[in-house]
Amino acid sequence: MPPLILDLIYIVSAVLFVLGLKRLGSPATAREGNALAAGAMLLAVVATLLDRSIVSWEVIAAGLVAGAIIGAVLARTVKMTAMPQLVGVFNGFGGGASALVAAAELLRGAQADIPGGISAAIGILIGTVTFSGSFIAFGKLQGFITGRPVTYPLQRTGNLLLFVALLVAAGALVVGPGDPVALGILAGLAFLLGILLVIPIGGADMPVVISLLNSYSGLAAAAAGFVLGNPLLVLAGALVGAAGLILTRLMCRAMNRSLANVAFGAFGGGDATAVGSDEDRPVRRTTAEEAALLLAYASSVVIVPGYGLAVAQAQHEVKKLTDLLLARGVKVKFAIHPVAGRMPGHMNVLLAESDVPYDLLVDLDEINPEFPRTDVAVVVGANDVINPLARDPSSVIAGMPILDVDRARNAIVIKRSLSPGFAGIDNPIFYEERTLMLFADAREAMADLAREVKEI
Ligand code: NDP
Repeated sequence: MPPLILDLIYIVSAVLFVLGLKRLGSPATAREGNALAAGAMLLAVVATLLDRSIVSWEVIAAGLVAGAIIGAVLARTVKMTAMPQLVGVFNGFGGGASALVAAAELLRGAQADIPGGISAAIGILIGTVTFSGSFIAFGKLQGFITGRPVTYPLQRTGNLLLFVALLVAAGALVVGPGDPVALGILAGLAFLLGILLVIPIGGADMPVVISLLNSYSGLAAAAAGFVLGNPLLVLAGALVGAAGLILTRLMCRAMNRSLANVAFGAFGGGDATAVGSDEDRPVRRTTAEEAALLLAYASSVVIVPGYGLAVAQAQHEVKKLTDLLLARGVKVKFAIHPVAGRMPGHMNVLLAESDVPYDLLVDLDEINPEFPRTDVAVVVGANDVINPLARDPSSVIAGMPILDVDRARNAIVIKRSLSPGFAGIDNPIFYEERTLMLFADAREAMADLAREVKEI
């Protein structure tokens, strides 16, 4: 293919990537954005295949078929609550693939000059760290590895020394490109570093780690792009790198924590043990019947979804209840916290799945001033994101922005027990006079509420 045509195709693909990313910014245009970016990737892949002297079409076809089948099965079978670990695995494979490409180019002697060697060494280093780190993150979320932070004496010093050793190995590889021993040492040390960087982080923080590793996988792809002399791969990798970093920052900000605190703070046990929950303090229990009366005669209701809604898959029942309340003339809105659930946008995705109109979803800054004017806040499996202890400087979640449910006139909290949420701390809202606790699975509770409201 003439280089000019190839460059033009790459430029078109790059522009489509950026436009696709832009469209992912709103749920209304997200599907289109996804299709646009996927189309751009297809275009880029076809152009690259036509341009390069392909050695074995059979191997490529087999890879495509296997990948498509695995992808389709995973997309259909993996539950929404397991999405963070799935993304983690994808990042790991992405990083591993970039490292393999860089290593293969070095071994076949294609990167004999210093800049080529540096790109390849960076690709191997970051790609392998991403690979092993992502699988540890996956294991922690899936429960294969303890979710507790694994710490030991001189941990940071050990990691620092390991990093220095890595730089030395990378240097050796750049000076003697294609040296299989230096390559093996670099890959081995990077593999170890990936593990050691992630094990001291609690399972609770894994989604942030996965977002960061996503950014690393982009950087590794960009490095592979330099190695292959493919400008589009450099650009796509840089886009992923930047997007992952921005997302990581947003998640840290929504928890009011620094990235250093996530990486080195050993926060959260990962196991939902009832730290500090006070089973003896009295709470006001309610029934679906009583709660339905309160809702049906309210003029404004704010529904606050959280992780429990995702676990229970209660989104369709929530939609039914919303429709019934709207039909009665009740004003209904949804309060969306940026880190409700286990990944950014978790609640938006679930509610979109059940066709809750997007204009009913209101972000934290906009909904908080409305709580004092709200008759009933209905909390569906949310806990940390409504915990007023965040206003107490001595709390572990101090400073985390919260939804001001405690300022609503009444609150109905739907969860199965008084156990704490992700952060492992008790929630004073449960014991307040204006709070009614509806102890039930979120899906059953929502179905019961809808049935009762219908009968009123
Ligand atoms: P939480 O984890 O604080 O609380 C969820 C609550 O849901 C639990 O208290 C649990 O109580 C309840 N629950 C679980 N299953 C069910 C069920 N089947 N039916 C009803 N209730 C159920 O969730 P939030 O959404 O409030 O907060 C998210 C947390 O995750 C925050 O701490 C955030 O920092 C953290 N996090 C989020 C990330 C993100 O990107 N979204 C990333 C990293 C961390 P019970 O067992 O009594 O039912």
